[in-house]
Amino acid sequence: MLSHNLSFSVIIVTLLISCSANQNETEYTVLKGATVFDGNGGEPIKNSEVLIRNDRIDCIGEAGDCSIPMGTEVIDASGKFITPGLIDAHMHFFQTGFFDSRPDAMDLNDTYPFPEIAAYQEQNPERYYDTYLCSGITGVYDVGGMSWSVALQEQAEENSRAPHVAAAGPLLTPVPGAPFDLPSDRVLVQLDSEETGVKMVQYMSALGSTGVKFWMLRADDEDYMDRVKAAANEIEKHDNQMIVHATSLDQAKAAVESGAKLLVHSVSDQLIDDEFVEMMKEKGTIYNPTLIVGAGYTVAYRAAADIAPIPINDPNGCVDQRTRELITSAAQFKDHPRLSDQFKERLQNFDPETDMTTDIMLQNLKTLYEAGVPIVVGTDAGNPGTLHGISIYDEMEMMQQAGISPKDLIVMATKNGAMTMNRQNDFGTLERDKLADLILLESDPSEDITNMRSLSHVMIKGEMMEVIKVQRY
Ligand SMILES: [Zn+2]
Repeated sequence: MLSHNLSFSVIIVTLLISCSANQNETEYTVLKGATVFDGNGGEPIKNSEVLIRNDRIDCIGEAGDCSIPMGTEVIDASGKFITPGLIDAHMHFFQTGFFDSRPDAMDLNDTYPFPEIAAYQEQNPERYYDTYLCSGITGVYDVGGMSWSVALQEQAEENSRAPHVAAAGPLLTPVPGAPFDLPSDRVLVQLDSEETGVKMVQYMSALGSTGVKFWMLRADDEDYMDRVKAAANEIEKHDNQMIVHATSLDQAKAAVESGAKLLVHSVSDQLIDDEFVEMMKEKGTIYNPTLIVGAGYTVAYRAAADIAPIPINDPNGCVDQRTRELITSAAQFKDHPRLSDQFKERLQNFDPETDMTTDIMLQNLKTLYEAGVPIVVGTDAGNPGTLHGISIYDEMEMMQQAGISPKDLIVMATKNGAMTMNRQNDFGTLERDKLADLILLESDPSEDITNMRSLSHVMIKGEMMEVIKVQRY
């Protein structure tokens, strides 16, 4: 029963390290006794010592390897497991997890005017910051949204209670972006000329965007691909990076050929071929499979049609109240014209146990994994049915089901995420002088990636927080 929420208390409390009265004072903390996976994929360090100096790692090794200064706060972490903080390399701050932020998929403007939703999302990213930290996620990459999302990068960096943020801003696309257009901001910019693309790249790069994303290509349209090429050249000139949403093999090949650093979805129309694997390997293109976001839409439509609610598997109480209310009131739209009888019948036939992804996506991921192509974890959170924060567990579990070892998944969810955000020098692995972003787990994530759910503490920028298990009524 979700109607009476008796305990909505604080999700995360600052527990072990209090703010220093004197900012110039150097504070040392050491975590002792845990098994550490440093994010590089090698053997774990057992009975470890992780010495933290203010917000950075000062020393990491086995017991006795670090010289511990007098006055260091000692935290006994024996029996626990430490990994770098998780990174969700594909999410969207402008999206809520339901259709109010996707009027193109189901128009709820009468109930939730999109301009108001967009403004709320711009002004209230903190609830998602909490949700992400509470889920063990210390870095997120917003790979497409309104131009304000780029400003979150700096804002979050200066906020000691926020994950690191990278953001791309508006997307270049062959289609008109009307459903998302506001008089003052946009999500989609139609790439109608070379000039449009070049100006867009100049503007977004000057704003400091991390990447410029193309929402679909038209591989067989020479004119369109000339515009893509012009924008891609400009991206290179500005030392920015190209991101492409490409779900068919021919689009994905065109993307890699055009210099994409990151493909943000699986190839899902057919099994990939050797040519594609070789291209990916040669260029070092990063592959983000987003295995479950597609089915998330179906799950959300089913909730709207009053067939089944969107499941919220959230033992740590990470999902914010506004999102909970939005999700649990989905069935108010059961008579929406989008939900025709024919569509409802298809929704009825969906089985959430077996239909959350496709065999083609799983097989393509396995092929690229075995070929050694860099793979990154990203959920596409914010899309209907894919909730911020907690969706990372479902996504990682599905990647494991594709045949990826949990040990390699740790790297994909940490180091590779930082590399994708272009922040590999700052975080993503636990090494001397990197930021102290890490998580403590009760169970071994290298045995089964499901154990990422056994999160007990999160350290962000050197500050430790305890994740409280919330009892809900
Ligand atoms: Zn996306």
